[in-house]
Amino acid sequence: MPRKQPLAEYRRKRNFAKTKEPAGGTSRRQSKRLRFVIQKHDARNLHFDLRLELDGVMKSWAVPKGPSYDPKTRRLAMQVEDHPIEYNAFEGTIPEGEYGAGTVMLWDRGTYEPEEGGGIDAIREGLERGNLKIVIHGKRLQGGWVLVRTRADARGRTQWLLIKHRDETAKDDFDVVDEETTSVASGRTMDEIAEGRANARRTAAAASRKKRPAPRRRRPTRSKS
Ligand code: MN
Repeated sequence: MPRKQPLAEYRRKRNFAKTKEPAGGTSRRQSKRLRFVIQKHDARNLHFDLRLELDGVMKSWAVPKGPSYDPKTRRLAMQVEDHPIEYNAFEGTIPEGEYGAGTVMLWDRGTYEPEEGGGIDAIREGLERGNLKIVIHGKRLQGGWVLVRTRADARGRTQWLLIKHRDETAKDDFDVVDEETTSVASGRTMDEIAEGRANARRTAAAASRKKRPAPRRRRPTRSKS
């Protein structure tokens, strides 16, 4: 049976001559722990992209309001096309006119695992069943979370709900999306990423380093004619 190209839809939607997003397929390394990332994406509508590693790709959901630590709050999560593992390192701006045009921030990252053990099989089974209980080990997201499938929308995309489990990490009155507004990777704000400023930490380090004058460039002499 021919295996379906897992990133076909992802690649079909993008022009890699124009966007700096990765085409993917270069990361062959199977990580010991399953990776997790959330990207804040200021596209036509601001949203948060939740990505969970499985079988060599990042399963992806667009969460319009982002995650909530309040177990009473159910956040809509639209399943979107699988993304390459390399997308986990992407932060920058997708140019105007391209798919998903806008600024992308690495908002959280880490690893995740099935809540009740069972390894990768438990993740596959949970996704299949439409009820995936996981524990997230991120910087900003921690503890138990569940993804529950509800239905497909008019465009055939699958709707899920992202809900915080009631555990010791749950918080009723903490708006993590409001509190955490910088990149977990570079420390930059959305505006700084949009302006194309260099990594905030690296910039600070570079500024403290001894400055060496840039070599003078000779201007070509232009003859008036
Ligand atoms: Mn997105």
